[in-house]
Amino acid sequence: MQSGAADALAVVHEYILVCTDCPLHLKRIQAVPGSGPAGARIMAVGEGPGETEDRVGRPFVGAAGNVLTKLLESIGLRRDDIYITNVVKCRPPGNRDPEPAEMEACSHFLDAQIEIIRPDVILILGRHALARLLPGAGGISGLHGRKVVRGDRLYVPLYHPAAALYQGSLMRTLEDDMLKVRGYLDEAEARRRQPVQAAPPVAHGQAGATKSHSPAPPSASPAHAEPLLSLVAPEPGEPVLRLGSPGATEPPTPPEPPSRDQLSLF
Ligand code: URA
Repeated sequence: MQSGAADALAVVHEYILVCTDCPLHLKRIQAVPGSGPAGARIMAVGEGPGETEDRVGRPFVGAAGNVLTKLLESIGLRRDDIYITNVVKCRPPGNRDPEPAEMEACSHFLDAQIEIIRPDVILILGRHALARLLPGAGGISGLHGRKVVRGDRLYVPLYHPAAALYQGSLMRTLEDDMLKVRGYLDEAEARRRQPVQAAPPVAHGQAGATKSHSPAPPSASPAHAEPLLSLVAPEPGEPVLRLGSPGATEPPTPPEPPSRDQLSLF
C-alpha cells in the first residue's frame, strides 16, 4: 500500500491534533482530523465536528454520521473505504456555522489531505464544504446531485446529511442524489474499462504505405481493469486512470511525507 501517502497523512493528522491557529481550539475536547484510508478513491467533506465527533475524535459518528453511512451503503459503498473529513477540524461551539476566518485558518489542512489522497471523486456535504471546495460554482440547491469536474477531479455536491434529519423531505433528495453518484461512478468505471486505442502500425520500407485497417489491439492491461470502486489505490508501479481524462494513464506518485517545515507552509 502507499505507505508514503499514509505517513504523510499521519503527519497532517498530528499537526491538526495540536493546532491552535484559530479560536476553535479553545473550546474543543479534541480536534477531528479525518478517518479512512490514505489510498481512498472517494473522499467526503463535511462542515465541522459536532458534539459526538468532538468527544470521539472521528468525523461523522453522530446522528448525521448514521445518515451518511446508510446513504453510502445504499449504493454499495463501505464507509471504511472512504476518507471522511471536514472543512474545519474543531467543533464550532453549539454547532454554529464555522466562521470564514476559521475556515481560512483550517484550509491548508484540507488542501494537504486532498493533495495526499488525490481522490477521484469528492462528495461535498453541504453548503459550507461547497463554498470552500468550489467557490463561485453556485449554491447547493442548484448543484446538488450534479457532477462538477475541475481539473482531473470529479466533485458531487450533496445536501448535508444533517439537513435530512431536520427536513424529512431532503432525505428522499439525498437518496436520489446518491443513486446519481452511483451512476457517475459506474460511468467512470465503464470509461476506465474501455480499451485505449493503439496507434496504427506504421509499415516500414513500403512506399505509399496506408493506414492499417486491422483492429487495434486493446492495450489495457489487467491492471487497468481494476474496478474504480475497489477504492484503494493500486500498488506503486501500477498505472492509475484519473477521472476527467479518459484513457489517460499516469504512474502513481505517492507524495513524500512533508517535513515539518513544509507543513508550516500549507
Ligand atoms: N459531523 C461531522 O463530522 N461533520 C459534519 O459536518 C456534521 C457532523
